[in-house]
Amino acid sequence: MERQGALRDEFDQVAAWIAHYFEHPESYRVMPDVRPGDVVAALPASAPETGEPFATILADFERIVVPATTHWNHPRFFAYFATSAAPAAIAAEALAATLDVKAMLWRTSPAATELEEVTMGWLGALLGLPPTWTGIIYDTASIGGFTALAAARETLGLAIREEGMTGRALPALRVYVTSETHSHVEKAAIALGIGQRNVVRVPVDGELRMRADALRECIENDRNDGKVPMAIVATVGTTSTTSVDPVRSIAAVAREFGVWLHVDAAYAGIAAIIPEFRSLLDGVELADSLVVNPHKWMFVPMDCSALFVRDESAVRRAFSLVPEFLTTPEADVVNYMDYGLQLGRRFRALKLWFVLRRFGAQGIREKLRGHIALAQEFAAWVRDEPGWEVLAPHPLSLVCFRHAPPGRDEAALEALNAAIMRAVNATGEAFMSHTKIAGKYAIRLAIGNLRTERSDVERAWQILRREAQKLV
Ligand SMILES: *Cc1c(COP(=O)(O)O)cnc(C)c1O
Repeated sequence: MERQGALRDEFDQVAAWIAHYFEHPESYRVMPDVRPGDVVAALPASAPETGEPFATILADFERIVVPATTHWNHPRFFAYFATSAAPAAIAAEALAATLDVKAMLWRTSPAATELEEVTMGWLGALLGLPPTWTGIIYDTASIGGFTALAAARETLGLAIREEGMTGRALPALRVYVTSETHSHVEKAAIALGIGQRNVVRVPVDGELRMRADALRECIENDRNDGKVPMAIVATVGTTSTTSVDPVRSIAAVAREFGVWLHVDAAYAGIAAIIPEFRSLLDGVELADSLVVNPHKWMFVPMDCSALFVRDESAVRRAFSLVPEFLTTPEADVVNYMDYGLQLGRRFRALKLWFVLRRFGAQGIREKLRGHIALAQEFAAWVRDEPGWEVLAPHPLSLVCFRHAPPGRDEAALEALNAAIMRAVNATGEAFMSHTKIAGKYAIRLAIGNLRTERSDVERAWQILRREAQKLV
């Protein structure tokens, strides 16, 4: 079916489209003006019986897919955690798809395996992690976190791998988090047979940080009740407000009781490559595992999440299982299938390698510093504006705030701010999301896109005030 030159032709069309897209990502609505079901309705009910010309497919991509896409590359995407893909990494993705290796064994792609070892070593060093730790790439922080908790469960010595958790008497296994911990930890507890009720919410302080003294109390009480503390999850940069748990004092408790400490730094951990922000990871060398997401704040396209572990053998003990057809003659090589549920693995290190080299550590630091400075500036604008308030500390590039004209109760303020956010998002010019902080509804403005400029943040602030004025 492929005629001579078809591949080149298709790539040229796609490259032209991508180049054009990145010239003006701001010309799209950030959040598309579509209703649920619109895309399904625009597509045929069944797959085509015969092949179609590439140009026809690409035209439908432009006509159906692009207008129904939420444009994460838009410089005024401020929702959740803003991210973006560096062109060099997009090109690397095309190369990885071209090689199309399944990097489960060293021999099924020596380059993918060893490039992962090297790039994880580079990233670990940039983050100031102990050189003896091992980095492994997963698709997401959720799966990296699940993997760390599975390793924690394996280290308990309860023979769960062999005997399972049913049909015999086992003590309750406990996982310690806070109200601010990302929901993947609870999902991991469900999947690992720990159970939601054994996910313990340790009280937080006034700045939403886990209280180490309260953690100790929870663990002591559980021990006295015959329960087994399995893991503590500390968060550096919570998803809601970017609060930072005191890793060093939490680690001291973890050590005292011999409990696995996992540090979830999916978003904020990347900032530790900036010397003045290295303190974010203070004490992490006392933990057992750490997750950071290059796909969140390091310009690597989805998906690329790095799990670093003190003792990689704990992960292998949890997951290594080698059927005959995958036995391999090489000794002393890494076979990444031993480190998780997945067998075939994508060549994710390639795009990370391209980004680290194309930007250099300096280039990445410069971008992050720029994002943090813009967020600080925005917070100052909010603070200085009568009737507006900042609702949480903002050490990094996320600001939580609201419009709070006097004389309204919490319910009225929630309704007002939800309406403001809806109105802002409906303009298609900017996109924000929300959270609740100690019961208060807050709008979140997260900066993390390569293409976000000061003028974009100014424009967002203009739109916010304009829409607020219409609503009060
Ligand atoms: C974004 C985020 C996650 C989830 O990341 P995925 O890679 O999408 O699984 C987990 N924890 C924190 C703190 C996050 O900010």
